[in-house]
Amino acid sequence: MHVKKLGLLIALFMLFSISAGCSQNGMENNSKEEGFTVVTSFYPIYLATINVTKDVKGVETINMTKPQTGCLHDYQLTPEDLIKIEKADAFVANGAGMEAFLGDVLKQQKDLEIIDASQGIELIKDESGEENTHVWVSITNEIIQVRNIAEQLSSIDKVHSKQYKANADTYIGKLEILKAKMHQSLKNIKNRDIITFHEAFPYFAKEFDLNIIAVIEREPGTAPSPKELEATIKTVKDSGVKALFAEPQYELKSARVIANETGVKIYTLDPIVTGDADTGSYDEYITIMEANLKSLLEALE
Ligand SMILES: [Zn+2]
Repeated sequence: MHVKKLGLLIALFMLFSISAGCSQNGMENNSKEEGFTVVTSFYPIYLATINVTKDVKGVETINMTKPQTGCLHDYQLTPEDLIKIEKADAFVANGAGMEAFLGDVLKQQKDLEIIDASQGIELIKDESGEENTHVWVSITNEIIQVRNIAEQLSSIDKVHSKQYKANADTYIGKLEILKAKMHQSLKNIKNRDIITFHEAFPYFAKEFDLNIIAVIEREPGTAPSPKELEATIKTVKDSGVKALFAEPQYELKSARVIANETGVKIYTLDPIVTGDADTGSYDEYITIMEANLKSLLEALE
């Protein structure tokens, strides 16, 4: 809760007690009615969080960015974002370097409670030593994130801690089933080499023992240069890889060029960074992962 809001509540309480001789309970009721607002940074974190805050009375979860925003690489905050953050009692971030704008937010709003969903997750570094931020694409990490969100939220909003924990347990149960199913389905595939579209899949590949032999867009959101495209085409030809995985969030143009030049087939892998609805479907992470599994089996079996 904000200091400002608390101050207002205390002032109201004092007024009320003077006029009506109210007890301490009056204030507790007031603060409950006021509600608790959780703001999430972007779609996958929103999906994880709504499963933790689901059906908890008085707790509202808002996604800061639009559901079609995608990853927040180089994201610039908008005035609408700042208005949403202003309302937040807690802000849930992916962490691992995804929300580079958080420093600026904290300068304006020093008392904002930040939940770091990636706490304790071992980060994968690329060859230049840069840490990869797409941790949620591994189901194991998604489970850690859900647990982190529930635990950190519970310490900020203690009143609802039991419900947060129970919700997290239910959701994690579903994620464990999904993970087991995917391990089982993918364990006997002989061809484990894949090409992905942007740097979203190292955690996923590690989890399911797949080898990413090339990434088409090294810089997210930037089409590869002719030289980079040429190098990727050579890698694909040399490796004999059969499948290229595009992402629904990105244009297919460069993937098509590579497919035309090499004869590989284009399939889809979704890093779960966008969704269809503002409200989000609670199980969208699971349904998208199941579609990813289907796509992998089609491409690699
Ligand atoms: Zn990304």
